Amino acid sequence: MEKELVFSDLGVSAEILKAVEDMGYTHPSQIQSQSIPLLLEGRDVIGQAQTGTGKTASFAIPIIDMVDTSSKKPQALILCPTRELAVQVEGEIVKLSKYKRGLTSTCIYGGESIDRQIRSLKQGVQVVVGTPGRIMDHMDRGTLKLDHVGIIVLDEADEMLDMGFREDIENILSDCPEERQTVFFSATMPKPILDLTKKFQKNPEIVKVLRKELTVENISQVYYEVKQPLKIELMTRLMNLNQYTLSVVFCNTKRVTDEVTEELIARGIMAEALHGDLSQAQRTKVMNKFRKGHCSVLVATDVAARGIDVDNVEAVFNFDLPLDEENYVHRIGRTGRAGKSGSAISFVTGRKDMFRIRDLEKFIKTSIERVNPPSVADLV
Ligand code: ADP
Ligand code: MG
Repeated sequence: MEKELVFSDLGVSAEILKAVEDMGYTHPSQIQSQSIPLLLEGRDVIGQAQTGTGKTASFAIPIIDMVDTSSKKPQALILCPTRELAVQVEGEIVKLSKYKRGLTSTCIYGGESIDRQIRSLKQGVQVVVGTPGRIMDHMDRGTLKLDHVGIIVLDEADEMLDMGFREDIENILSDCPEERQTVFFSATMPKPILDLTKKFQKNPEIVKVLRKELTVENISQVYYEVKQPLKIELMTRLMNLNQYTLSVVFCNTKRVTDEVTEELIARGIMAEALHGDLSQAQRTKVMNKFRKGHCSVLVATDVAARGIDVDNVEAVFNFDLPLDEENYVHRIGRTGRAGKSGSAISFVTGRKDMFRIRDLEKFIKTSIERVNPPSVADLV
């Protein structure tokens, strides 16, 4: 697109214009410019864009503008892969609907007492955000009725399928009225998603934002060659040397996640682990601590950390190299958000890792620079 659009070009309400201004959004992102008008027209949309490109507002804004506040029945349903993401999406809806009187939303996810959720649903809400399992649970109990749902959004659809929510998703989609909009947002569009879109969407418009806008441009990407047992030492030094306020460390397994967290704490670094074994309460606590800067390092597995939107993450460490290229992009997208700069630091141990780096470089069409560890002598 040649001309840079502003929000008022997209046909959104005055209430939305005021809210985005409050939020400091001066211009819509590409995915927002393209999908908001289509959704306002009532079209089904498949939106594909990388992490950090503003997909949430792409569907949240049209939903807010389309909700009929004179009815308290659920009119929009947004499915998210994790509780953290659902909470984030609902938070964005609350902010964007600040000036739309009478709009109510709620967040529904597993691991939290169902009573609060039942109470909030009983009060009447128009926008429901939740994880597929718990949404199904409420449908089964009769505490959530979808017969007035006019739009359903699958956010981070690739994630949801990876996490095994396919059956729940199909059930939920089948339960929504025929006459509705069905919207998919995803960073990637593997075949299982395309199959779902074929089955459940009507003449969808595909909106694809190519890698150009990808935030990796303001992320410096480097790697260190280091022996396995020295990784922790090197990482600690880099953290101390650069004094990152917030950083995220990615590991491939829960076990390594816990070990690395303990090692960092033993070295005086305020680290917290985030992985799928934690209870909902624990995960929320960890995320809040990190968001508020009460801990400076989050050590996480891919699934636990995806979609998490915390600004001001200065560095991402690949303690273990990710097993696939998409995950690399997801991981490093935790930093360099909203136009800020960030560092992505990977550790390479051995030939296999070296080949991985070359594959990653091909995938992202950018080179990842090799740097020497500080005080090479005692590290390599
Ligand atoms: P995605 O779902 O594509 O990963 P998000 O919706 O989480 O992206 O948005 C990423 C970040 O960009 C968030 O911090 C969000 O507040 C911010 N953001 C979204 N839209 C805009 C905009 N138009 N202008 C500035 N910042 C924006
Ligand atoms: Mg998102």
